[in-house]
Amino acid sequence: MINDCRIRNVLHVSDTAFFCMKIKEYGIVFRIKKEVTSLFEVLIPRLRVRTVYDIDLNLLQEKGYKGIITDLDNTLVGAKDPLATPKLTAWLEEVKRQGFKLVVVSNNDQARVSTFCAPLDIQFVHKARKPSSRPFSKGMELMGLHPEETVVVGDQLLTDVLGGNRMKLFTILVQPIAIQDEGFGTRINRRIERIVTSRLRKQGLWHEEE
Ligand SMILES: [Mg+2]
Repeated sequence: MINDCRIRNVLHVSDTAFFCMKIKEYGIVFRIKKEVTSLFEVLIPRLRVRTVYDIDLNLLQEKGYKGIITDLDNTLVGAKDPLATPKLTAWLEEVKRQGFKLVVVSNNDQARVSTFCAPLDIQFVHKARKPSSRPFSKGMELMGLHPEETVVVGDQLLTDVLGGNRMKLFTILVQPIAIQDEGFGTRINRRIERIVTSRLRKQGLWHEEE
């Protein structure tokens, strides 16, 4: 009888310990989940549009933005298009006409970026290594602007949006122009993007209707 009691007490104590252990474990899991979520939040663009032509330049101006740091490949033209289209040239002229400064910040090499930018007389930063903060600082330096005056436009969460958000810039995500022309590195980034957006969707932080 005494032995039974002792066994029950031992069981009771070990159950409580097990329960506490589980609570602690859940706490750790919860904390990790929370940290992962906040890590993912830095990948949320401030605005999502279909193309650069859908950006409301008047609204940006009203909000006090004076300059645009834009990605090149699959944001302005397809990754394999060497030059600007007439439609894009007209848009870039409109951006300039409205008083915005603009700089292209691209992870691509000098030959690609200068071939695109030189005919348009646009300043650029090549081999930028986005999401590193340095090319964004360099872009703002070229425009002579502060972070609160600068918008970032790009088609990738892990380079354009992450880099811009880390620098506290206003980030705008566009849909990639020609996804089939993307290189190996970008295709890996797209897979990670799908995981990130699916998680953010579950957390209610990524809305389809946006
Ligand atoms: Mg791009």
